[in-house]
Amino acid sequence: MRFWVLGNAGVDETMAAAQWPQPGHTIIVGAPERDIGGKGANQALVLRRAGCAVHLVAPIGADAEGAWISQELKGEGLEPTDFIVLPRATDRSLIFVAPDGENAIASVVGCAASIQPADVDALLCRIERGDALLMQGNLRHDTTEAALALAKARGVRTVFNPSPVDIAFRTFWPLVDILVLNREEAGLFVPDAEPEAALRQLRRDGVGIIVLTLGREGAIALDREGRLHRASAEPVIAVDTTGAGDSFTGAFIAAFLGAQRDLGTSLRAATKAASITVTRRGTRSAFPTESELDDILGASARIVAAD
Ligand code: ATP
Repeated sequence: MRFWVLGNAGVDETMAAAQWPQPGHTIIVGAPERDIGGKGANQALVLRRAGCAVHLVAPIGADAEGAWISQELKGEGLEPTDFIVLPRATDRSLIFVAPDGENAIASVVGCAASIQPADVDALLCRIERGDALLMQGNLRHDTTEAALALAKARGVRTVFNPSPVDIAFRTFWPLVDILVLNREEAGLFVPDAEPEAALRQLRRDGVGIIVLTLGREGAIALDREGRLHRASAEPVIAVDTTGAGDSFTGAFIAAFLGAQRDLGTSLRAATKAASITVTRRGTRSAFPTESELDDILGASARIVAAD
């Protein structure tokens, strides 16, 4: 099977800041660290490192940053011909990180916002029954809906990670086979609910399988038969949680759809992959390597499943 990731890719520039910028003031920051960013690129990268066949369909600009992204992702085994090259600046984020690890982000999203619903047919023309489509919250709402609807109509499994979150995404639920979200996102769709109750409500709202990540408490999932599965987080010392959700999502989908592991085993694999990411700084450099993912996907049988 092939995975199609229709999402964003950009350049992240991360700067250590002793204080936040205030109106009218200048702050001095550490040397920027530059890497590829964008949830689409991140999740595609983890899927690829897990050995899956992946097409990352992502808009980049016809500029030096776009060429750099293309070259770097080619080196990771992703096919640059899948990228959409637009006559505009590649998307980028400026990320200020405070000494306590908190961050503030300013993003340019012109490329991601320029993909129209009418483009979806051509972009996904090679997707076919048996494939899977993975999307995040960075593209236009109507474009995301059109892509999920096209996939459903072709018998393609749909996976949606509603990040950055938007309450309007809840109209997508009948189009979503697998929803992977974190506690804050779940809280927007189902306010004031305990995790298990939130999952059951999302099921009633039309989602197929729901996976909820709970930070250092691990993750839970509700299968189609209404059974609840749990995996504890690995007991690691987290130094930077950036990318934990993308690492989790990529590894989960690789295990569940790619390696056809059961839901509980896949949860366990995903928490292991994410635990590696939180022990390293950065995003791409913090994702598990191919050999780490081999170990995880081969040795993810330890699982806690609870009804
Ligand atoms: P992020 O936005 O930081 O990428 P997220 O908010 O989308 O992450 P979380 O629920 O915080 O998602 O984390 C995803 C997964 O990462 C968790 O399910 C867990 O497996 C792992 N994880 C997160 N924090 C820790 C931690 N402190 N120790 C071990 N594992 C962790």
